[in-house]
Amino acid sequence: MDEPTPVIWWVRRDLRLTDNPALHAACATGRPVIPVYVLDPLDEQMGAAPKFRLGLGMEALSRALQNRGSDLVLRRGDAHTVVSQLAQETGAKEVFAARAYHPDEIARDLQVQDALDHIGVAPRWHAGRLLFDPYTVKTAAGGFFKVFTPFWKAVRPLGIAACLSDPSRIPAPRHWPISGRLEDWNLASSMNRGAQVVLRYCQVGEAAALDRLHQFTDEQIASYGNDRDLPGQDATSRLSQNLTWGEISPRQMWHSGQVAMAQGRPGAETFLKQLVWREFAYHLMVHTPHILTENWRAGWERFPWLGEEAESARIWQRGQTGVDFVDAAMRELYTTGYMHNRLRMITASYLCKHLMVHWKIGMKWFEDCLVDWDPACNAMGWQWVAGSGPDAAPFFRVFNPERQRDRFDPKQTYLQRWIAEGQTHPPQTATDFFDAIPYQWRMTPADLRPDPVISLAQGRARALDAYKSLSK
Ligand SMILES: Cc1cc2nc3c(=O)[nH]c(=O)nc-3n(C[C@H](O)[C@H](O)[C@H](O)COP(=O)(O)OP(=O)(O)OC[C@H]3O[C@@H](n4cnc5c(N)ncnc54)[C@H](O)[C@@H]3O)c2cc1C
Repeated sequence: MDEPTPVIWWVRRDLRLTDNPALHAACATGRPVIPVYVLDPLDEQMGAAPKFRLGLGMEALSRALQNRGSDLVLRRGDAHTVVSQLAQETGAKEVFAARAYHPDEIARDLQVQDALDHIGVAPRWHAGRLLFDPYTVKTAAGGFFKVFTPFWKAVRPLGIAACLSDPSRIPAPRHWPISGRLEDWNLASSMNRGAQVVLRYCQVGEAAALDRLHQFTDEQIASYGNDRDLPGQDATSRLSQNLTWGEISPRQMWHSGQVAMAQGRPGAETFLKQLVWREFAYHLMVHTPHILTENWRAGWERFPWLGEEAESARIWQRGQTGVDFVDAAMRELYTTGYMHNRLRMITASYLCKHLMVHWKIGMKWFEDCLVDWDPACNAMGWQWVAGSGPDAAPFFRVFNPERQRDRFDPKQTYLQRWIAEGQTHPPQTATDFFDAIPYQWRMTPADLRPDPVISLAQGRARALDAYKSLSK
């Protein structure tokens, strides 16, 4: 008997089986499904940590698929060539994929669509990455939202469909197409010595993400509203890396939050709101894609930021500014690929304001180091802090890292976790940093802590003067 022609599931940042509309629709055809990941030029350009983390996510998805008698085919090259070639090789007439929202991904997908149209194959785009479609959420005047609170009020009452189940069967083709080998792609190659260290802190794959979600909603969500700003505590979901790579869906997180709310857990509403900040970032990226590359607000190009040449930027990257709270966070970032949200704000503010270094340089460093790197959230976060973004913190609001430390880390739990120097028995977290960094940084736990590059008062005054000259 002839085998039915297969369909293709083109896997992107949706490395999961449960609540995956594209996979669900592919399985619903009843035809054999060929899951494929295409490492395309957009992936090749990613920073070291996201690329490394993508490899871990692919490995986990491969295993999950193999446990179901399926597999993940790996191909490399321009997506329009690779996807259409695979369709021709296998005779597939439909390609299922999750819709993407980054302008470069949209351009790539249009090329793929053209290439598939040309050979008579139908692309089937599905939602799955977001809770709300950024094109349909509109202000009363029919425009898009530039401020978070009205966006939140507009989407909060909208219904969110229930999650889709894990497909009980993913029909496999009788003959698998040729696949590349993940080991040959060497996705950790830019990680330097960091790969083995960062790996220990990663939470990889769908099963781990779901376990964490359950643990968080059982144990932490009730106090999330009060404790989420305390970096020394395990008080936030830590699911951003899983959400970024699609190992969990925003809908799974939203519905768990809703259940917690129904059970009367007080932090649940705040948690839902944070999920909507991510939606807002995508909304802004879709409607104003220049947020990714340029000052969102006009006029900021005259601000006298320092550029690549600034030695202070390198000192900041290495956790050597001499401001302990900032340095602790920069080390958490390098060691784990993650940084607590409050510290993302503080380190970004310190770079753009006290050190007067351009936000784009900080954004690029985060892009290289974060395992949860998300272009929309990263750009919104940096422009929000710098003052150049929509609904941004006013520039004159300069975070004072020492006051922030006293308020949010009064027992210095976070500080001691990440700064080894000066401690007789530093914890492993703090010493791990020295195992992760490149040898050329020449840093050891026995070093003396450096003096601050600039005093907090002077840095603040200098930034405010520059801001005043901008507004003249
Ligand atoms: C300068 C800067 C850069 C950032 N870069 C990124 C990035 O590259 N990737 C990324 O996922 N987040 C980024 N954020 C947002 C935020 O810091 C992280 O999402 C959060 O720290 C992740 O930890 P969590 O999963 O424990 O969050 P939780 O507190 O548990 O929140 C749940 C989820 O809500 C979303 N969320 C929470 N806070 C924000 C926020 N402020 N903006 C957007 N979404 C939010 C995240 O998806 C998060 O996983 C950035 C923030 C700043 C200030």
